[in-house]
Amino acid sequence: MIIDARTLDSSSKLHADVCVIGAGPAGLTLALELGRLGVEVCVLESGSIDWDPSSYRLSVGENVGLLYKDLEHSRWRGFGGSATFWSLDVGVDPAGARYRPLDPIDLESRSWVPRSGWPFGIDELTSHYEKAQEICGLGPLDYTVGGWALDRDGNHPFVTPSFEPIVFQGGPAGRFTRDPLAVVGASENLRLYHHVTVHELEMQATGDRVCEAHAVTRVGSEVSATAAIFVLAGGGIENPRLLLVSRGRRRAGVGNEHGLVGTHFMEHFHALTAVLIPGEPGWLEQPALHSWHVVRGTPVQQMYRIRETTVRSDHLLGYCFSLVPTAVAGLPADVRSDIERAGGAPGDWILGVDVMSEQAPNPMSRVTRSDRVDHAGLMLMAPHSRQPSLSWQPADLDVRTLLRGQELVAEEFQRAGVGTVLTRLTRENIDRELYGGDHHMGTTRMHDDPAQGVVDADCRVHSTENLYIAGSSVFPTGGYANPTLTIVALAVRLAARLRRVLGAG
Ligand SMILES: Cc1cc2nc3c(=O)[nH]c(=O)nc-3n(C[C@H](O)[C@H](O)[C@H](O)COP(=O)(O)OP(=O)(O)OC[C@H]3O[C@@H](n4cnc5c(N)ncnc54)[C@H](O)[C@@H]3O)c2cc1C
Repeated sequence: MIIDARTLDSSSKLHADVCVIGAGPAGLTLALELGRLGVEVCVLESGSIDWDPSSYRLSVGENVGLLYKDLEHSRWRGFGGSATFWSLDVGVDPAGARYRPLDPIDLESRSWVPRSGWPFGIDELTSHYEKAQEICGLGPLDYTVGGWALDRDGNHPFVTPSFEPIVFQGGPAGRFTRDPLAVVGASENLRLYHHVTVHELEMQATGDRVCEAHAVTRVGSEVSATAAIFVLAGGGIENPRLLLVSRGRRRAGVGNEHGLVGTHFMEHFHALTAVLIPGEPGWLEQPALHSWHVVRGTPVQQMYRIRETTVRSDHLLGYCFSLVPTAVAGLPADVRSDIERAGGAPGDWILGVDVMSEQAPNPMSRVTRSDRVDHAGLMLMAPHSRQPSLSWQPADLDVRTLLRGQELVAEEFQRAGVGTVLTRLTRENIDRELYGGDHHMGTTRMHDDPAQGVVDADCRVHSTENLYIAGSSVFPTGGYANPTLTIVALAVRLAARLRRVLGAG
């Protein structure tokens, strides 16, 4: 059932077994799975069901670190969450997203990556990834190049000692926006309220249970929800923000006994690291090497990663890149001059080497509570409800990985005779050239030890009995791959756990 919260009476009290805050990919997956398992769920969604441009006001925040997109353009309030913004042309629906699971090494505790290591290995996620593939509208859980017949019989111009091809799958945004509407609408035990923003979690007097979620509707009425279990699924910036502003019984915020909430904010570093003037102009016309194309009904794209042996020997982070046919005329002036100096391109196009790399967990890269009252707070005259403040900070290992990856691209591509490589990143310009992928991770990180993580291996906030978190804020590390497949897999896993907890209760 879908209910417009603007029709609720002021002081309405909602109730369910589980209250989920947020209806993005994480919250919707969790709610639909729980509903299927027979659990009564209420979802509180801040934004609208339809596209509503005024929702951006709810996502405004401050940026005080490395240059970052305005926060209101980096996530979305509304049914489907940030999937509403997905616009990648993968040849379906018409727009979608890029998906790939984490690699096994991403979950390992790596001696050269401080604070790395998930509480479990990749096997714990495999069956949930299979279900996630289905939910996201993808093909089978097969990310081998051979599985999609993309290896061109092993005679591949871009396979070098340090790089190997990998596969990403593409899926339609509609799986989290248009498609679930009818299912949620028809569900007996799922009630989704939209236009209602949670501004505070109230703790029981004992301080170890959430007893109520306080919210304001878009017409200014105050409502609240009670439940046996609460799940925060508001995204990697809102999850810590809501914990930090809920200070009624915990002065530092809920779950923040060790000062960890909001710390270790991670993104994927994106940049045009190099341009490749291909030795053979024909490579631009070989979609198997770079473009999205549909194999047995599934859109796939070939990208390249640094081989695990090199990552381990050189103590690097996860690093991948795509080769993007790019019109020379559309490149920045400095890149066009570099191409001219190198003798020019044979045609109007070159291959851009677009990198996407892992960010190491860094306590200084963080989301805090700003001094500015947020939109919900202004409506309610509730000054405790503050905007988030983001300080995105790369560390030495991040920069070293990006520069070493670029060096390997230049050396090995030139040695392999694939063309002329012109590199772009330097220690001096790197801060200006990097941008994020709107992947907000790590801010309520998972660890078995409460002194090192906000949630435990079940995604339960350590210091509370009935508060759980869904979404990439729980990732202790984020690899190089886009996060949503792992977010969905973790949400499926969480639904099964919550069903058991409720059954036991
Ligand atoms: C332009 C763009 C392109 C992207 N491309 C990709 C891609 O190709 N592949 C990929 O894997 N990922 C991609 N991402 C990232 C992806 O969208 C996110 O990882 C994913 O949406 C996170 O899901 P979520 O449910 O955790 O959070 P969100 O999608 O942010 O959803 C959170 C929901 O919670 C609601 N909410 C927040 N706070 C409150 C509150 N206090 N009360 C009530 N409701 C609240 C919000 O309104 C929102 O609907 C992209 C993101 C953007 C912006």
